[in-house]
Amino acid sequence: MGTDAMLPGHGSQAAGRPRRLRVLQEHTVHRPGQALAPENPYWAWEEPEFSEHPAPERGCIRRGLCCRSNPGWFAPGEVEKAAALLGLEPDAFVRRFCIIDALELEGERVEVFAPLKLGRDGAPLLPPGSRADALYRMFRGTCIFYDEPARACRIYPARPLECRRYICTNRPSENLSRRAIAGLWRQGRVLADPDADPVPEQPRPEPEAGGAAPPAGRSRW
Ligand code: SF4
Repeated sequence: MGTDAMLPGHGSQAAGRPRRLRVLQEHTVHRPGQALAPENPYWAWEEPEFSEHPAPERGCIRRGLCCRSNPGWFAPGEVEKAAALLGLEPDAFVRRFCIIDALELEGERVEVFAPLKLGRDGAPLLPPGSRADALYRMFRGTCIFYDEPARACRIYPARPLECRRYICTNRPSENLSRRAIAGLWRQGRVLADPDADPVPEQPRPEPEAGGAAPPAGRSRW
């Protein structure tokens, strides 16, 4: 992303209002106070009325913006619970509904499970059970478990840790990072209470000049 002065509409927006950018040919909403390479952008098609959260004090009001952008990561032990909820064996659940994503922690590649993203045509962006690649991470997609008409999660009682802890009105730094979830996988640590147990943050490497962009959607590295 270039400098602010290079962006369309710069200087014409009223202070404090979100504005639209174009990233990878998609319209993106940029909120005041975010970095220009936003960690948590929203695609305009997901938020057509271009509105702020109408009642932040009410928390989740099921707009579905997070579930339609980038599914949350499971923590260790959670795929088993979600599979049991659907009456499946864990391996069948992963081969049908999940992707294997990964993150490097202190030089070690850590792999995790996440629900698949679907494209706008409703088809998986990669074959179920495969490994995510850079392109998959860049593009947004609706979670395979999101029930659009009901605006609900089909595995809500066994939803991933990242989904449990995510609050869309938080600053990105206040939400659980994917590095923290990867840290649980590296330790093989299963949380006794996924709604409450503390999850230690993992050290962040210095960003490389011209390095990889953060993933699309809700999450932060
Ligand atoms: S698992 Fe459920 S809560 Fe998480 S992104 Fe998918 S639909 Fe949303």
